Amino acid sequence: MAIREILIHPDERLRVVAAPVSFPLSDEVKQVIRDMADSMYDAPGVGLAAPQIGVPLQIAVTDTLWRSDEVRHDPDNPGGSRDLKVWINPEFLWKSDEMATWEEGCLSVPETYADVTRPAAVRLRWFDMDGASHEHDFSDFLAVALQHEFDHLLGKLFIDYLSPLKRNMITKKMKKLYKS
Ligand SMILES: [Zn+2]
Repeated sequence: MAIREILIHPDERLRVVAAPVSFPLSDEVKQVIRDMADSMYDAPGVGLAAPQIGVPLQIAVTDTLWRSDEVRHDPDNPGGSRDLKVWINPEFLWKSDEMATWEEGCLSVPETYADVTRPAAVRLRWFDMDGASHEHDFSDFLAVALQHEFDHLLGKLFIDYLSPLKRNMITKKMKKLYKS
């Protein structure tokens, strides 16, 4: 188990556009994916994209069950994985005209939450760790979580959807709290 350091905004590496992953996965990439899962659960968070640990590849992991306190604190399986999903080279094939607003947060922008409006449903194509492609429609929280995670692969953060004034305030706060 290896916990990697999660980069904090305004780290420049969060703004890099990630490159597609080639198959079969190298041992190095498989290790990155394992480390991403460990780091996400340790944080704890419901999603983590590779650029957040400084790896500019199109990979994200999610566990949207993890957001439930009930699951996270289940005494029968403390810290256990519940619904780990690995998304490689994801591409949205369709986004709904209908929009939905959810409060978002991000491991790279700690202790900061804001409402973001995004398409309410999406159709996604992605690859699994074996290189098989999948296509599926998502709605509700998962649609939002996936759009948030895959924004990271484009060098984009949820605070980019906020007003410049609000974003500047958040950037100042991050610089003050996480000065290295
Ligand atoms: Zn994020």
